[in-house]
Amino acid sequence: MDSIKEAFKKQKDYFESLKPLELERRKLLLQRLKSVIEKHEREIIQALNLDLGKSQFEAVIAETQFILNEIDYALKKLKKWSKSVKVKSPWAQFPSKSYIQPMPLGNILIIGPWNYPFQLLISPLVGAIAAGNTAIIKPSEISSHTSKVVANLINQNFDPRELLVIEGAVEETTALLECPFNHIFYTGNSTVGRIVMRKAAENLTPVTLELGGKSPCLVYDVKNIEVVSDRIVWGKFFNAGQTCVAPDYVITSSHLKSALLKAFKSSIEKFFGVEASHSNDYGRIINQKHFERLESYLDEKDILLGGVRTKEERYFSPTVVQASEKSKIMEEEIFGPILPILIEDDFDNALKFIQKRDRPLAAYLFTDNENFSNRYNEEFISGGMCINDTIVHLTNDHLPFGGVGESGMGAYHGETSFRIFSHYKSVMKRGLWLDLPLRYPPYGEKVGFLRWILKYFG
Ligand code: NAD
Repeated sequence: MDSIKEAFKKQKDYFESLKPLELERRKLLLQRLKSVIEKHEREIIQALNLDLGKSQFEAVIAETQFILNEIDYALKKLKKWSKSVKVKSPWAQFPSKSYIQPMPLGNILIIGPWNYPFQLLISPLVGAIAAGNTAIIKPSEISSHTSKVVANLINQNFDPRELLVIEGAVEETTALLECPFNHIFYTGNSTVGRIVMRKAAENLTPVTLELGGKSPCLVYDVKNIEVVSDRIVWGKFFNAGQTCVAPDYVITSSHLKSALLKAFKSSIEKFFGVEASHSNDYGRIINQKHFERLESYLDEKDILLGGVRTKEERYFSPTVVQASEKSKIMEEEIFGPILPILIEDDFDNALKFIQKRDRPLAAYLFTDNENFSNRYNEEFISGGMCINDTIVHLTNDHLPFGGVGESGMGAYHGETSFRIFSHYKSVMKRGLWLDLPLRYPPYGEKVGFLRWILKYFG
């Protein structure tokens, strides 16, 4: 893996040759990234379709256009974000000025997963470039078509000393993790998240870990069941359920269950037809291994809707199952098109149930009841939260996106992406024309005088 060390060394040397605060270089890189994506958008969409059966619509809104918007936003805000911010100085250091200067971190490593294989690599990259860094990008080998397209797109259009894609699997990632990057941004499962953090610790490299988990969706005291159902079904079966913020399971009261189930059936049929396998808008499971994993969660007697599968085509229909706290499907993140429904009549008990579990990446609640929605916000800790909808909180550039506890650490999107790849350097600049002697020895009785001054002048 000498080539990986070599590639890292080149980026390191190159970064050291740069003027870290120059904005023009960052702008040119972002503009080039934008035009390269626009030029190759069809290839990207095609690769996403080959990997995940992703429809053109989902590929555009959740991958290519999502990134193009992020680039535009970063270009618009770059000057503002990179400005130093003046802050107050203590009187004892008069004369002085203090400010906070955002600096690039240096060399960044971005490791992506397979479910949004374009967005989840390039979105952090936009932040890394905007903040003035170099980056090595490691796509998931599992979404192999998109990996290849991203590698061509970046490696044929950028100087490898600035941006470089290294394709590969465990061996390549392990070699990359040996290098003393200045920040590692990892998206994927928490087992590998732990490996990344352990390896990073050896070089004292800070990490952002964008992990997953079981994001709950509570439905209580709500009237407009059709809209509730459309929004849950859309969020759950987008990308065939392979979304880190998909509602993992629903908890509702027994008196809403049958109306909700009826509505789920009609939303599924409205979106994908009676047979979703014929719909161009319904995705496929990434590979056989994940297909088998999903099948292992199913107990035929619990299937309420769907459950139709064709293994060779990696087709797994939108499926709703009944479940309880003890069901196998409640043990780990589903990450596929199976929606368990749990019944609990009391909202308080439902809240207690989710509070006992790992902190999820997202939390959803559908309700007309202000008291319930306030309590959900005030009493439940999760990466993000969306009341009366699913997933769409991610589309707001002003909201940081990230997990907490088992669902990750650190956040990005919009200005937060710039911040995560920046070091906020504290600077104090003093004048030499006046030098108050208070701090110099011999100290004598100065401590009493100092306390008096601090008391009255702060
Ligand atoms: P994956 O299997 O593609 O793995 C992610 C990355 O880790 C890949 O680049 C892979 O090459 C690398 N990798 C795998 N094994 C490794 C090892 N032993 N050592 C070093 N690197 C290794 O993707 P995944 O983990 O299956 O992705 C799904 C998970 O990611 C789910 O839990 C999902 O919730 C989570 N996820 C989180 C977000 C988020 O934004 N928080 C987004 C998407 C997915």
